[in-house]
Amino acid sequence: MNQMDYQSLKNMLYACADKIIRNELYLAKIDGAIGDGDHGIGMKNGMIAVRKVLDQESDGSDIYALFSKTGQAMENTMGGASGMIFSSMFSGNAKNQPPASCLSPEMLYEHFRSGLESVQRIGHAKEGDKTMVDALAPAVRAMSEHMGSFEELLKAAKKASLEGLEKTKEYVAKYGRAKNLGERAKGHQDAGATSVWLLFTAMADFVTGNETPDPVIEKKEEAVRADVESKKKIINRPEDVVKEESEGFLYAYGKSIKAVPGVNGLVKKVIPEGKTALLVGGGSGHEPMFGFFIGENLADCAANGNVFAAPHPETICKVSEAADRGAGVLFLYGNYTGDNLNFDKAAEILAAKGIQTKTVRVWDDIASAPAERITDRRGIAGDVLMIKIAGAACSELSLEEAFRVTEKARDNLYSIGIGLEGATIPGQKEPIFTLPEDEMEYGLGIHGEPGIKRIKMQSADEICTSLFSRIVEEGNLKKGDVICTYVNGLGSTTLMELMILNRKLAMLCEEAGLVVHDMDVNSLVTTMEMAGASISVLKIDDELKKYYDMPCSSPYYTKSRISD
Ligand code: ADP
Ligand code: MG
Repeated sequence: MNQMDYQSLKNMLYACADKIIRNELYLAKIDGAIGDGDHGIGMKNGMIAVRKVLDQESDGSDIYALFSKTGQAMENTMGGASGMIFSSMFSGNAKNQPPASCLSPEMLYEHFRSGLESVQRIGHAKEGDKTMVDALAPAVRAMSEHMGSFEELLKAAKKASLEGLEKTKEYVAKYGRAKNLGERAKGHQDAGATSVWLLFTAMADFVTGNETPDPVIEKKEEAVRADVESKKKIINRPEDVVKEESEGFLYAYGKSIKAVPGVNGLVKKVIPEGKTALLVGGGSGHEPMFGFFIGENLADCAANGNVFAAPHPETICKVSEAADRGAGVLFLYGNYTGDNLNFDKAAEILAAKGIQTKTVRVWDDIASAPAERITDRRGIAGDVLMIKIAGAACSELSLEEAFRVTEKARDNLYSIGIGLEGATIPGQKEPIFTLPEDEMEYGLGIHGEPGIKRIKMQSADEICTSLFSRIVEEGNLKKGDVICTYVNGLGSTTLMELMILNRKLAMLCEEAGLVVHDMDVNSLVTTMEMAGASISVLKIDDELKKYYDMPCSSPYYTKSRISD
């Protein structure tokens, strides 16, 4: 085959979508090993949106319109790292191409070459960094070397993407959630690269008429997402959890907060003209973080993604527009590839519309990367203290000044946690990770991403001592330093256990001569029903103290004046 008409391209894209949808569980399992287990559902949502576009598009005139509309549909539905990455792969440079009614092998090669280029432009990953680039780049190279019929072209791409995928098992990850795992990521293949291989397999099968069997999932993992067999949870349909939780929230707290139409976003009903808006956001599954922190001297609005997946740019833009009062919007979110990509894209779109934004990425998890690579660290429960400071600062200051104060808080914030039991994503059967009875995960993330090491279970005092000493060392905390602390539970850890941790924390602070300005203990940044806890310490100066002390209130976080 040397020409592909509009209808054939449509059918090939249907085949791609169906391949991914059928392999959702397989992708979930691969992402669960070294990521957060959501790659399958994210890709599936994107592919359902692709199918909808294909169902609607029937004018038959422009193959590039098909590529750019399917790419756009993915960007607008998936969120997470893969939303921006895979929509770039699909869109390529289609927007700038003159209309064409037929596709040639050269055009398809050129399309994916430009797709790879935009993936690398936004994501910066090179080959060897353990991302989907490791499968896409060799596939594109192989296409350039096998420029014959579609059959030759796509068979070569399929083979090369599989070889690239296999190699990801040897790599340490430099991007995505697995980047904090170091050597622990070795031996596991990359989820995004697996999707790329599945996509090229679907395309090669389509043009050759072959049927490559789908990867087999071990017996006990079958039906991981079959609703009847999923873990017991009080939900209706897994795909509706985020939408329905917002609806429930608004029935209870909708006097002062409303939904942003058309997206998963919330905004305060009354925001004064000229106020700097504070936008918080990220994946759902951490309730009450992020959306339930909208309130006085706290957030003005929230952009919510699917469970553990960053919100997509359209959500962030619509929420920003709903909250902007002419003074600009401060973005405050956890430092994850998915969030960074989606928020940066939104900032670009908003700038073009004349809405100014500034960004502070929270990277308080000191376990997730050494200090020399501080920008590789991820955001965890210290975000509570960040919203406290940023919310107060945005109430009084210009965007520039609020940004400065918020960054200062971020640069004086240190957190580290332990995990005892994993959580299960709604609709799945298996938890993200499991641990033997007598072990705990040290330094893990709030999506259940593995931590630095697994160690034997310890007493509360031992846990607290070891976490605290890492924080003191990292923050170079000295006698006389003034701090605010926050002990966070991950979901199913009881307040009793958290208080026992806090008891020891207070004793250790006293021994170290630290001046504790305020202590808080709660479960405000959860990982659904995960068991575990973290300790966060914010070192404050007089300026940060001023903002910390401003009273604040929201449905799940309220504090009155701390000091006189
Ligand atoms: P998230 O990481 O937000 O949970 P997904 O699980 O859906 O998103 O997707 C993870 C995949 O995204 C990774 O396996 C990797 O292939 C890809 N990815 C992450 N970061 C990058 C990047 N900077 N460049 C290219 N691909 C990336
Ligand atoms: Mg993931």
